Amino acid sequence: MLPGYEIGPRPGRCRMYFRGMAAHPGLAALRDLQVACRACHVCVDAGIIPEANPTFAGEWGAPFFLVGQAPGPAERQTRRPFSGRAGKELDRWMLRAGFASAEEFRHLTYIAALMRCFPGRNRTGTGDLRPPPAAVKNCAHWLDAELELFQPQVIILVGQMAIARFLGPGPLEERVGRSFGKDPVMVPLPHPSGQSRWLNDALNRRRLERALALIRRLRVSLQQDPKATRARASARLTASAVSAAKRRE
Ligand code: SF4
Repeated sequence: MLPGYEIGPRPGRCRMYFRGMAAHPGLAALRDLQVACRACHVCVDAGIIPEANPTFAGEWGAPFFLVGQAPGPAERQTRRPFSGRAGKELDRWMLRAGFASAEEFRHLTYIAALMRCFPGRNRTGTGDLRPPPAAVKNCAHWLDAELELFQPQVIILVGQMAIARFLGPGPLEERVGRSFGKDPVMVPLPHPSGQSRWLNDALNRRRLERALALIRRLRVSLQQDPKATRARASARLTASAVSAAKRRE
């Protein structure tokens, strides 16, 4: 268990929470944002997708923030990010990165995406469409608002599109296995989809292992510096509450 987190009789779905956050105004701001996002249908109105099913998940105060590309058909049904085969692979990676369980990884990680609704299958039915630029543009303000609220310490970028959004274009080989930035630290990962052939190359598998080792070290450093984690969380909560109050004025 990471410092500051507890398992207890908190109302709601999640049993683990960051101490002192349950009643904070920042939590209310996040909930308002999530309610508004779940009701979003801008891309349907614009004729980009036939139905809206905004998908994301996470708890207020999560120290890790993951940005993926877009939900797939499994997530369209479950409305839970990474709940299909790619999600199972991601969970396995996170066990290798030091999380005690898939459940712990998901409790400690807010999972968002560049496009929150399923973009559809490609014409041949062999895979999912890439998120259309117009949808990513429409969806960007949800991600920006979450990042402003969370100010995460660690951002895990999954797949080329998410990596490019934060780091600009560049080959995966120059991204996976390295970290970027200090506050937040960004750790790129390949997409865990079975469609990706990138991991067929042994060198790339080694790059992935280095990336997972980086996440492991970051997780340990959060564990070893609970004061910094809590001080940052407290500052973040205050800043978020002030900006949420300003937005409501
Ligand atoms: S993809 Fe994003 S902007 Fe488009 S309808 Fe879904 S939630 Fe709204």
